[in-house]
Amino acid sequence: MQLKGIEAVSVVDQIRCDRCGNEVHSKESGFEQMTSIGFDAGYGSIFGDGNRVEIDLCEPCLRATLGTWLRVRSPWSIDQMPQGEISAGAERPPPTIDSQDPGRFAHLYGVLTVQEMAAQLKCLPKAVYERAVAGEFIFLSSPDRVDDRRYPAFQLNERLDKSLLKQTIQKYLEADINSTLLWSFLRSPQKIYAGLTAIEMLLGGMPPQYDTLTPEERADIFLDVVDEEISRVRW
Ligand SMILES: [Zn+2]
Repeated sequence: MQLKGIEAVSVVDQIRCDRCGNEVHSKESGFEQMTSIGFDAGYGSIFGDGNRVEIDLCEPCLRATLGTWLRVRSPWSIDQMPQGEISAGAERPPPTIDSQDPGRFAHLYGVLTVQEMAAQLKCLPKAVYERAVAGEFIFLSSPDRVDDRRYPAFQLNERLDKSLLKQTIQKYLEADINSTLLWSFLRSPQKIYAGLTAIEMLLGGMPPQYDTLTPEERADIFLDVVDEEISRVRW
């Protein structure tokens, strides 16, 4: 049982780009695209021991200043360490996939092509896509090519709570929120799950304090967190 209280929190309402001065309100599009860097300088830092260092930049200014060194990757290669040099904006094609590698499927946060999904599900690629459109699977589209799609591999895991995943996908569809944001939510450790990610929860992971709960109660808590996440990312 969770007893909820209400307390006042301060939220960032407006951000001004420190380079061009452009101001964006939290209700405006573009707010999510602002990048804020902030840290306390450590011992021996060139910024002075213990000093606070901060900057807020809009996207054009971020690219104009740090663009040469930014690593820009497609959603499905986020977890992969870049190899060699990647220049700004030049996206590395996804690595060629060796379907014979069983370790690949053990990787919770990996993604598969439609052919790999179809092979695992023993159906036609078309059927995989249709099931995805019907809200049974999540897929991610390439930023440059909508018909280039990847399917998160955890969806084939035998421990998956299919009904809970389906309800989660349904909530995102109803709220008209991009699957990239759902993918990002699924991979983020959640405080309320004792640091487990939503994917780990969907695969039966359980924080110790959930031990005494029924599967229905666990599902309710899970979907509450999904609702909270949706209201956080939409406006
Ligand atoms: Zn700017």
